[in-house]
Amino acid sequence: LTFGDEGDEADWEARPPVVTVMGHVDHGKTKLLDAIRNTNVVAREAGGITQHIGAYQIVTELEDYERPITFIDTPGHESFTAMRARGAKVTDIVILVVAADDGVMPQTVEALNHAQAAEVPIVVAVNKIDKEGANPAKIRQQLTEYGLVAEEYGGDTMFVDVSATTRQGIDELLTAILLTADASLDLRANTEQDPQGVVIEGKLDKGRGPVATVLVQRGTLRQGDSIVAGDAYGRVRSLLDEHGNKLKEALPARPVQVVGLTSVPRAGDTFLVVEEDRVARQIADRRQARIRNAQNASMRKRISLEDLDAALKESRQLNLIIKGDNSGTVEALEEALMKIEVSDDISLRVIHRGVGGITKSDIDLALADDVIVLGFNVRAEGQATELASREGVDVRYYSVIYQAIEEIEAALKGMLKPEYEEVALGTAEVREVFRVPRIGNVAGSIVRSGTITRNSKARLVRDGVVVADNLSVESLRRFKDDVTEVRDGYECGIGLGSFNDIKVEDVIETFEMREKPRA
Ligand code: GDP
Repeated sequence: LTFGDEGDEADWEARPPVVTVMGHVDHGKTKLLDAIRNTNVVAREAGGITQHIGAYQIVTELEDYERPITFIDTPGHESFTAMRARGAKVTDIVILVVAADDGVMPQTVEALNHAQAAEVPIVVAVNKIDKEGANPAKIRQQLTEYGLVAEEYGGDTMFVDVSATTRQGIDELLTAILLTADASLDLRANTEQDPQGVVIEGKLDKGRGPVATVLVQRGTLRQGDSIVAGDAYGRVRSLLDEHGNKLKEALPARPVQVVGLTSVPRAGDTFLVVEEDRVARQIADRRQARIRNAQNASMRKRISLEDLDAALKESRQLNLIIKGDNSGTVEALEEALMKIEVSDDISLRVIHRGVGGITKSDIDLALADDVIVLGFNVRAEGQATELASREGVDVRYYSVIYQAIEEIEAALKGMLKPEYEEVALGTAEVREVFRVPRIGNVAGSIVRSGTITRNSKARLVRDGVVVADNLSVESLRRFKDDVTEVRDGYECGIGLGSFNDIKVEDVIETFEMREKPRA
């Protein structure tokens, strides 16, 4: 498993493994990541503020293995799958978290299916072994059905019993990751190639503008580089690690925040470095044009390009975090919410759900995206409340499901893009065509219906066939006077700008685009 496969062998260097944590809701993914981060980073970096970023690196402090490991910290296997769907291969090893007091659940199976489909080795973390009723042997037993046989039973999957709460087993888990990396993966990358990698997440930061968390996969990304990420581009103004420290460069498997892009790229976008800003811009423009064309073809013809652009820029997805007092209500609420349908192009996504109060890490997560945090019979904890109000995160409390549904439905409707419809204004029949110097052909016409209005949109119909669309009434005269409108039954001269192919008996239709009232 190497990132990049070209270039001089001598330039290849060992790189840290990249790990993603997956598993059923509430089995402790978040807490396990927190435990790993807290044992290995915060204690070391006194004063360093660990912000939530979509990926970070820790340095293990194990006797034999003082080595870095990169964790992708985007919730759930949705993002793993989404990235894979976009062709981005990011993860070397999946940690499958299974709660020892609960067992294999639907999302456990989903997660392991995703990992197996991607041919990514799995290390099983049997979590919550501190709990009464924990039965780690049962977990091993259950997972054999899915082809994950523990080493101690003669298989080749490492199972580690852990508690994210007491932090028991964390070191063993990190050891297992490194052993798996060393035993079966040849993790190297060429540090001298042109830098490339993947966007893990993008966000719009109030102070710094677009910020992308990227994972460098080959080459060395440096401050000052001109980069293209998806359809965003720019020059790397600063590179920041998970503590907000500025870095001069980032080597393969190093996640960094990139500041300096002109817009926000999407998770799973690849990025690359180009020689000059100009080239970065060209590539980005071309990608934007491609996206626009694709959208253009699929959408109704009469929506303008401006609308399409705006639609592209806007997020068409409402993200939710659901916290509740027990897993039954959380599931019921999620299920009910997912049934809301407002429009095909707006979707609802639950990026995280869990039992218990709304924590600071929930709010951190919400900050990464446009997220509404729902608390069902639970409230935000002290620090979380403060952070949420400081950062303007939308936190809402409910104790009745239908209220939550009504409000979320309203929020979704608020995201609806206005639809436009064509409203006919008037038609005129061409009686004579005059050639006017410096203006071009003017259609001497009689208004047959409605009103012809200056500056309205127009098309030309000949023998029942539209011969020109996208015209406008650029000049309108009655006798020698410029007028703004001419009504049914009157004669007038209509100029269609630089369009001159006008013939007697043509029909000029005029119309405007009006915002459709919403149901
Ligand atoms: P996620 O949905 O998989 O991210 O799960 P969380 O990390 O949010 O954990 C769900 C719940 O289980 C929380 O209330 C945690 O405090 C609790 N939890 C997680 N790990 C452990 C553990 O090792 N032991 C105990 N007793 N509780 C845990």
